[in-house]
Amino acid sequence: MKLILLGAPGAGKGTQAEILSRELNIPTISTGNILRAAMKAGTEVGLKAKAFVEAGKLVPDDVIIGIIQERLSQEDCQNGYILDGVPRTIPQAETMEKLGVEIDCALSIEVDDEVIIKRMSGRRTCKDCSQTFHIVNNPPKKEGVCDFCGGELTIRKDDAPETVKARLVTYHKETEPLKKFYEERGKLCSVDNQPTIEATTAEIRKTLGI
Ligand code: AMP
Repeated sequence: MKLILLGAPGAGKGTQAEILSRELNIPTISTGNILRAAMKAGTEVGLKAKAFVEAGKLVPDDVIIGIIQERLSQEDCQNGYILDGVPRTIPQAETMEKLGVEIDCALSIEVDDEVIIKRMSGRRTCKDCSQTFHIVNNPPKKEGVCDFCGGELTIRKDDAPETVKARLVTYHKETEPLKKFYEERGKLCSVDNQPTIEATTAEIRKTLGI
């Protein structure tokens, strides 16, 4: 299964990607997580990306394409992958197509902006392993502590309400046109956000026939 998850920031792409990744035994490739790790480690890519990420802007396409080419060439991607948050622009999608990156389906998770804004204010992210939680919808067993690695849960800088609004504007302008791009290639499917994570997963399973 070679899957792209499309959707606004906070639509639940990361959460659903982790669930599908475990079930299908294929890796999730999240450019957001790769960039945050690079920023934390202070690598060249991290230094290039920092100002864009913190302002809620998109990182330049060439940086993203470099990351994705490198990651997809690794052994664990040979049987499939879930792309979370990439491509994010038409030029990224076109370049990936030219590079021969295969896609079975681009799955869009549809969520209203008002729901996103409310949801992002409760999101908490592990500073060590990037796992996300939500203080109401998906709370950790112990407040402020990651269930998976014991790391400290923090609020991502770019989850601040003003930055979320900027990210939504960017999503509608730059990323949403990808729905048409994949529709024209007969690859688009979409699911509506459901009241719970499990119900959204069930909708995705039905749509993908898995
Ligand atoms: P995410 O965790 O997917 O919400 O990504 C966090 C931030 O990383 C975004 O707001 C962008 O600044 C940057 N980013 C992640 N993926 C991409 C991409 N494919 N293209 C450009 N910027 C990206």
